[in-house]
Amino acid sequence: MALEAQDIFESDPLWQPYFHKTGIFWMCRSAYAQDVIDNYKKLGRKADLAAVPVAEARRLHDGLFEDADYTDVTEVLVNKTSGWAAAGDCLRAVTRRCLELGVKYVTTEVTSLHLDGGNRCTGLNTSSGHVMEASHIILSTGAYTPKLLEMSATSSNRANLSAGDRIVAGGITTGMTKLTEDSYAKFANMPVGVQGYTAKQGKPTAAALAERLPMPNTTTGPFIGSLPPTPDKELKWWGQKIFRNTSEVLPGRFLSAPPADRDYAQWKVSGKLKEDIQHANHVFYGKNGAHWNMEKHRICW
Ligand SMILES: Cc1cc2nc3c(=O)[nH]c(=O)nc-3n(C[C@H](O)[C@H](O)[C@H](O)COP(=O)(O)OP(=O)(O)OC[C@H]3O[C@@H](n4cnc5c(N)ncnc54)[C@H](O)[C@@H]3O)c2cc1C
Repeated sequence: MALEAQDIFESDPLWQPYFHKTGIFWMCRSAYAQDVIDNYKKLGRKADLAAVPVAEARRLHDGLFEDADYTDVTEVLVNKTSGWAAAGDCLRAVTRRCLELGVKYVTTEVTSLHLDGGNRCTGLNTSSGHVMEASHIILSTGAYTPKLLEMSATSSNRANLSAGDRIVAGGITTGMTKLTEDSYAKFANMPVGVQGYTAKQGKPTAAALAERLPMPNTTTGPFIGSLPPTPDKELKWWGQKIFRNTSEVLPGRFLSAPPADRDYAQWKVSGKLKEDIQHANHVFYGKNGAHWNMEKHRICW
């Protein structure tokens, strides 16, 4: 699916401006690199990718990742045909195109799904008391989906509409630093960096539980990432802690959802989660990033 998406990103003029083919540098602590190479072979796909020994990988990209943490790293997957896409720009471009094609764009709060006497969803109930009906409904409500399904299960008396453990909203911290002119020159053409770990179940610490975002099921995430700088010179990381934000959405019904505040309260980030980004900086750049000022943090759902 990712390769099919990439084909569209590279060929369709609507998406093409937003794909940045920077390559990827993936530090592997499992057989991941070989698995990826094998998958490309199985799918009959050509790509410029290789599993590179650590000593050689340290020297790539003018030694950009020379001081990264390579503990337990077996090899580095270097895929020059990979990259990253700017999601916000894509969303705006696609929305604009939909409007040009005649889509009617309505902004409203949906309180539950509208179901007919059987099990068919025929519309949406809105907070202003209206029902919006359509022949086809595509629910793409992101991390709010379990909450909306829970509301719908209760209001329609259909318990099996609950997401249960089929969908769990998870948060992760992202952080950014603004590079100086000098360091931007060094990082401008960098690949996406990934530190891959083998997942292990973690226990929440008392400190973590005291934070604004409860973290009842923190896991040591499968990967930490570093994204190339944007044109305004912002280099970005995501951290390793994946967490839930559990609350009682209906009497006796607990589930994880983003905070109900505007913009998911995404700019309110606890000190503990900011440390996650310091750690991410350290495992990619070591002493080279030690003095960077971490100005912005967001919670990504
Ligand atoms: C700060 C941040 C940084 C991120 N960075 C990255 C990244 O670098 N790379 C990456 O791959 N992913 C990133 N993500 C994750 C990525 O944005 C999401 O995975 C992706 O947007 C999910 O797409 P979606 O269409 O499923 O849901 P969303 O983009 O969340 O869209 C859901 C929409 O449904 C609306 N909605 C929900 N419930 C209701 C309701 N009841 N009534 C009306 N409207 C409703 C919401 O307002 C929203 O507009 C980031 C997320 C955040 C918040």
